[in-house]
Amino acid sequence: MIERLLEGNRRYAAGRSSAANASPARRRELVAGQAPAAAVLCCSDSRVPPEIIFDCGLGELFVVRVAGNVIDPVVLDSLEYAVDHLGVQLVVVLGHNNCGAVTAACAGGHSRSPGHLADLLCLLGPAVEAADALGRPATRVDDAVAANVRMAVQKLEQHLGTASVGRGLLVVGALYDLESGVVSLL
Ligand SMILES: [Zn+2]
Repeated sequence: MIERLLEGNRRYAAGRSSAANASPARRRELVAGQAPAAAVLCCSDSRVPPEIIFDCGLGELFVVRVAGNVIDPVVLDSLEYAVDHLGVQLVVVLGHNNCGAVTAACAGGHSRSPGHLADLLCLLGPAVEAADALGRPATRVDDAVAANVRMAVQKLEQHLGTASVGRGLLVVGALYDLESGVVSLL
């Protein structure tokens, strides 16, 4: 399945996207139910729409989008629903470069932002700490983006693992490059 998504991404990155299936016929076909092949947790950033990036149509991806692709209990429950009730066998956590949420967290935004934005940036705190531990100021934001994805994969493996023992669930971390359009596995 991951190979199918990566193939779709190669088409998209090369400017050869297929006419993703969004026809009225397909829409009607899906009224009775959905059986998406994969779930994607990714950033709300308008430049990172997973259906376009992976060249997918209606009913193919179960998508959870939240700024900074962080994991909170509601995100976890949504992905658990996809695995337990829709039979999704692949969960992709997709980070991206130039992520505004991660950049803000790196700038210490959580101590300056009021209310719920502070909550969001706090969730990114451990990834910033992991990036700082690498001691590479020039790539600090990129390091934090990657750490955030790795930590999300770990969390999902722990949380979803018990619910899907023996069912071959695969949780994969990946990064999207805004300029090339290419998704690389972590
Ligand atoms: Zn982002």
